Amino acid sequence: MTTVGILGGGQLARMMALSGAPLGLRFLVMDTVADACAGQFAPMIVGDWRDENALGEFASRVDVATFDFENVPAESAQWLADRIPVFPQPRALAIAQDRLAEKTLFRELGIPVPEFAAVASREELDAAIAQLGTPCILKTRRLGYDGKGQFRIKSPGDAAAAWDALGAQATTVGLILEGFVTFERELSVVAVRGRDGEFRTWPLTENWHVDGVLSASLAPAKTDAALAQTAFAHARKLAEALDYVGVFALELFCRDGVLLANELAPRVHNSGHWTIEGSETSQFQNHLRAVLGLPLGSTRMVGLACMLNWIGEMPDANAVLDEAGGHWHDYGKEARSGRKVGHATLRADSPEELAGTLQQVGRVLAREDQVAPVVEALRGS
Ligand code: AMP
Repeated sequence: MTTVGILGGGQLARMMALSGAPLGLRFLVMDTVADACAGQFAPMIVGDWRDENALGEFASRVDVATFDFENVPAESAQWLADRIPVFPQPRALAIAQDRLAEKTLFRELGIPVPEFAAVASREELDAAIAQLGTPCILKTRRLGYDGKGQFRIKSPGDAAAAWDALGAQATTVGLILEGFVTFERELSVVAVRGRDGEFRTWPLTENWHVDGVLSASLAPAKTDAALAQTAFAHARKLAEALDYVGVFALELFCRDGVLLANELAPRVHNSGHWTIEGSETSQFQNHLRAVLGLPLGSTRMVGLACMLNWIGEMPDANAVLDEAGGHWHDYGKEARSGRKVGHATLRADSPEELAGTLQQVGRVLAREDQVAPVVEALRGS
């Protein structure tokens, strides 16, 4: 009997545990809070990431460890890796945790990125704004996610407000200034690499964000094959450079037909949730297969799929359950503003069928705005 340890007990760990059940796997989750939603499906250790007693107990009860949460301190991940197999390796985690290290690696690998500059002081912020021009975005280097820890600078006059908002973090988590990319679309590659180096990707996904948080994903993205091949090549280069094991997502901006890398998520990713029903093998199960050294499953799609995120509170399930291709995911979390509490995946065999289903669901749930860009992408030329 194999037990997989998961650091972080949110919805990603929960879906991973669900996908691992058919493989006969057991799970142990570690989180800092007792009500983490994966705890509804797996035994859990509650403890601080730096608590060596808790980490030690975790290590003694699992065969291999992985993550649902990328901000587990890299030193804690390394402490575990000195005792048990940990995938992805702590080095990949450390790079993905630091926007500066991540973008520097992208650039070294020849993967285009938005313009960026490190910012350590107010003077450096002014110099960086002068260098990059406006609009631009000041971001924390570490511990930022879902648009948190970001300040949009529309003109040089916004520098003082940006510094007021984030300056105190220059000496703690560090800051980076990025050029604002006026992209046509956002895309992501969700990919998996096995312990033996085998590499697979799911079809390219198009994503829509609201206030920095993912709102909807569509797969396959409507794009020409050459662009998809470039995206896959970037992802492969990155995975090989990091000797990565497991699933990851590479988030990309597409501007004037050119792909610019935004960030690497060293874990299963929200833009890959559609793979549960929309592909032969889900990102969650392939992550487990990779981490355990098992053969990877096919990433072939079954038709088209759109995922809609439920943020803050769950809508009425029936609108989705009523649809032939409708799939419901309630993470069992308490409703709270801005919190990801669930998602739905709608699957169909043709773009027109999917667009129709989305419109119907959007109408019944009064979420026309959420489905509108996806419907437009499906019906556009
Ligand atoms: P992040 O946390 O870096 O993934 O940012 C969240 C979202 O903010 C992205 O998915 C984009 O929609 C937007 N964003 C982040 N960085 C930039 C940028 N440099 N230019 C334009 N939009 C951005």
